[in-house]
Amino acid sequence: MSARVLDGNKIAEQVLSEVALEVENLAAAGHRPGLAALRAGSHHASEIYVRNKIRTCERLGMHSEKIEPSGQATTAELVYIVEELNRREDIDGILVQLPLPPQVDTKTVLQTVAPEKDVDGLHPMNAGNLATGRPGLVPCTPAGIMEILKRSSIAIEGRHAVVIGRSDLVGKPVAMLLLNDHATVTICHSKTQNLAAIAKQADILVVAIGRPGFVARDFVKLGAVVIDVGVNKLDDARLVQEFFAGDAARRKTFEEKGSVLIGDVDPRVAEVAGAITPVPGGVGPLTIAMLMANTVKACKMRRCAAQRTAR
Ligand code: NAP
Repeated sequence: MSARVLDGNKIAEQVLSEVALEVENLAAAGHRPGLAALRAGSHHASEIYVRNKIRTCERLGMHSEKIEPSGQATTAELVYIVEELNRREDIDGILVQLPLPPQVDTKTVLQTVAPEKDVDGLHPMNAGNLATGRPGLVPCTPAGIMEILKRSSIAIEGRHAVVIGRSDLVGKPVAMLLLNDHATVTICHSKTQNLAAIAKQADILVVAIGRPGFVARDFVKLGAVVIDVGVNKLDDARLVQEFFAGDAARRKTFEEKGSVLIGDVDPRVAEVAGAITPVPGGVGPLTIAMLMANTVKACKMRRCAAQRTAR
């Protein structure tokens, strides 16, 4: 048996084309959505992430801007920048690209973002809204995982979902979203005992731990849906040979580039799972798509609410 591959690129394109239509309608009504991305320091991957987000905004006809203070910026300086963005009428979403430099208090900066502009859904007020079933902005990767499940017609209600990982960015919010959609949810982490046995009970297994190929075949029930959030660079020839024994294209990529991407799930899990997200091309594309969707949602919530109050 080989699992159905849940194509994140295709689903992200569906989401983006819907968002593009909304941007067009909002712009026609004088409310062109705007996103500001704040990045400090010289973290190479962050630079690529921000560039891709800005490009996607441009493609959809949204206003976007990049703010890149030096890697020496202090917490107070970043707080000042965020406060300025909070006051701007043309900015609907503020994205603080992580990681921030080590001297910066990340939680303070994230907490400064106005909850109604918090398109990454990391402000405690939005986390609270999610936990109490109130409307708000939901973190992009977890929201993207739910889009994959729903648009692939995967039933959630009454199913047992096991989430491995409990970060504020992925594990906790995706567990909350699954719970809000009436799954029975188990959350696992690095101190969980008998992890493989618990994971094997899952109808839906979400893995977000940052460990290359960690979840092996014996973690997965026959026919389970597996969502692999991890993005890891693999540069060990022996491991590439082992994980991708049946994937000549990936081994060729390794020979050419000296490394390949791998998720937190051993690709051979596809032999037992019913459905699985690939890495790359699974959850990743949805993260950007949901950032765009959140910016449009933030624009509608804030500007349309302001219009109603003004009347
Ligand atoms: P994180 O903040 O480092 O959290 C990792 C979580 O995994 C922690 O809760 C940790 O447990 C748990 N964990 C680590 N090792 C474990 C083990 N051996 N067994 C069980 N649990 C273990 O990471 P994150 O931000 O959630 O990201 C996780 C992965 O997703 C990374 O590979 C990241 O690159 C990827 N990611 C991808 C996207 C995307 O768009 N595709 C977006 C975000 C993240 P403790 O809490 O006990 O330490």
